[in-house]
This record gives sequence, structure tokens and C-alpha cells, in this order.
Amino acid sequence: VLANPLRPAILAAARSSRVKRAVTGAPVTRKLVDRFVAGESRESVLAAVREILDSGRSVSIDFLGEDTRDAEGAQATVDEYLALVADLGALPEAADGTSGVRRLEVSMKLSALGQALAGDGRRIATDNARTICAAAEAAGVWVTVDAEDHTTTDSTLAIVHELRDDYPWLGAVVQSYLRRTEDDCRALAGPGSRVRLCKGAYREPESVAFQDRAAVDASYLRCLGILMEGAGYPMVASHDPAVIDAVAPLVGRTGRAADAYEHQMLFGIRDVEQRRLANEDKQVRVYVPYGSQWYAYFMRRLAERPSNLRFFLRSVVTR
Ligand code: FAD
Repeated sequence: VLANPLRPAILAAARSSRVKRAVTGAPVTRKLVDRFVAGESRESVLAAVREILDSGRSVSIDFLGEDTRDAEGAQATVDEYLALVADLGALPEAADGTSGVRRLEVSMKLSALGQALAGDGRRIATDNARTICAAAEAAGVWVTVDAEDHTTTDSTLAIVHELRDDYPWLGAVVQSYLRRTEDDCRALAGPGSRVRLCKGAYREPESVAFQDRAAVDASYLRCLGILMEGAGYPMVASHDPAVIDAVAPLVGRTGRAADAYEHQMLFGIRDVEQRRLANEDKQVRVYVPYGSQWYAYFMRRLAERPSNLRFFLRSVVTR
């Protein structure tokens, strides 16, 4: 059974420019967007980051944007990440270059760095990602490459693999709704390998992805077991209580140290639970998006939870 019968329609709307105009033009949208997005400017995200760090949590900051159609757009994204990484490097939490967990991370989408550009998109995205990794390394900041739709998975994992020769701390992301992901987890569970495991947020065909919520959840737990039993650094990206409850027994059974894995959740979602875990001395990282290109990200959050959508529609209708 699908968790949200409207999910496919909302995810289709996430790619429609007509719906985009209607949604971004609606005055009430702003308030709901603010729940999930830490503002449009770097200043606003840095203020949110300060508060999260002070509460004992770590961050991964995402400059919103995806599906860049020209090289200039990709370059503008690189420039923003370089400015962001420089600002993060000036914070007292920036790592000093020694090993250990870095509390500051940026997340980036290769499609925002030019991956889909005709001709040599893959090369452009790889070079752009490398530029950001070099700056992050110097600043004491980690980087993780987000997972996008399944047509990009092979290319994205290959680029991460290539860049890990120089930046072994570069994080990969896998999505438990994809049928291939158990195999990917086995391949990615080597020493030092940072892997974010999430359920997956895109609309995918049955040929490549489980459609049924229970199957996605079961796949998540299988993948989590593989990563926890492996030699890497699992990043458990989920708000699901069943997933969070499964972590402690796995950590106990595999003898994993407290600094050898982390929980991750999205900005604005289950904040109380994030703080509870952090207060129990668990490592918690908050994924914090900012920027003006929030539309697709926002629609994916609406699609995940019927009550978000109801809240949104009610505010539009009752104005
Ligand atoms: P669900 O079963 O969807 O939700 C469990 C519970 O969490 C819900 O009952 C509810 O209480 C709460 N919850 C979940 N979503 C919402 C919401 N939108 N609003 C309010 N409450 C909610 N997906 C990708 O495809 N690629 C990525 O690179 C990626 N990176 C991510 C990074 C992080 C740190 C996180 C946390 C998620 C990421 N995702 C990514 C999204 C992920 O794939 C899921 O779509 C999303 O996390 C919802 O799945 P869930 O595991 O929280 O479980």
C-alpha cells in the first residue's frame, strides 16, 4: 500500500513549471516553505546552523538547485558552494585536519553541477565537484553527494568512486526503494566509506524500485544491517521510529563505537526527536537546505506526508 496515494501526482507536479508558478506565487506557501528551508541567503542559513551546532547537533548544508541546464548555472552553483565552504571554515567547529568526525558538511547534487549537460556533462560535474571537495578539504568540511533519480545512480556513484581517490571522506547516498541498493551497500561498505542510507524521495518505476511502503522499509533495514556490519561509516538518514529503534541493537551487536555512525534528519522535521538523540550523546546531523530554488525540494517534502499536503491545501483554500 502506498503511504500517500497522492505521492505520484505531487512528485509529477514537482517537475511541472505550470504548477511551480501557481505554488510559488501563492502567498501562503512562504510560511510552509520556511518550515523546511532555512531561508534564501547564506546569512540566514548560517544563523540556523549556529543554533543547530549550539544544540550539540552537526550539519550538512545544501544549496538548493537541481537539473542545471547550462554551464553558467553550474558555475554559479560552484561559486556559491565555495563561498559557503569558506564561511564554514571560519567557524570554530571546522575540523583541524586531523581524523575524526567533522561537524560541518555540505551536500551537493551533481545535476546542479552540470551532470545532465549535453556532451561532456559528466566531466563538467566531476570537475565542479572536485573543486568543491578541494576547498572543503582545506576548510575542514566534509562533502556528501546526494542521490537523485535512478537514471543518475550509476553515473553519480561512479563519480563519487573516482573522487574518493583524492577525497576518501566523500560521502555517497543510497536509496532503499531501489532494488539495486542492497548490492550497492555491499560494494560501499568498505573501510572509511561514508554512506548515507535514505528511503528515496523521487517517483520511480516499478522495474527499478519497490512501490510498496513495507517493501521499502524492509529493504531499508536489510541495507542498514549490511552497512552496520561493514567497515564504513553509516549515516542513518530517516525520521522513521522503526528505523531509529533498529539502530541501537545493531550498534550493540556489531560493537560499533558511538563515533562510527550517525543519525541524520531534515531541517524542520522531528526536531524534538533530533534533540532527544543528541542529548543521549548520539551523533545527529541535520540536513539544512537554503536558497531560492526551493520548489522541487518543498514538493518532495509535501509528497512524503499527507498531513503536510492537507495543511498546505487548507491554507490555500481558506485564505
Ligand atoms: P517515512 O516513513 O517517510 O517517515 C517516517 C516518519 O517521519 C513520518 O511518520 C513522520 O513522522 C516523519 N516525516 C517524514 N517525512 C516527513 C515530512 N516531509 N514532513 C513531516 N514529517 C515527516 N532522498 C533522496 O532521494 N536523496 C537524498 O540524497 C536524500 N537525502 C536525505 C538526507 C537526509 C538527512 C534525510 C533525512 C533524508 C534524505 N532524503 C533523500 C529523503 C528520504 O529519501 C525520504 O524521502 C525522507 O527522509 C522520508 O523518509 P523517512 O525515512 O523519514 O521515513
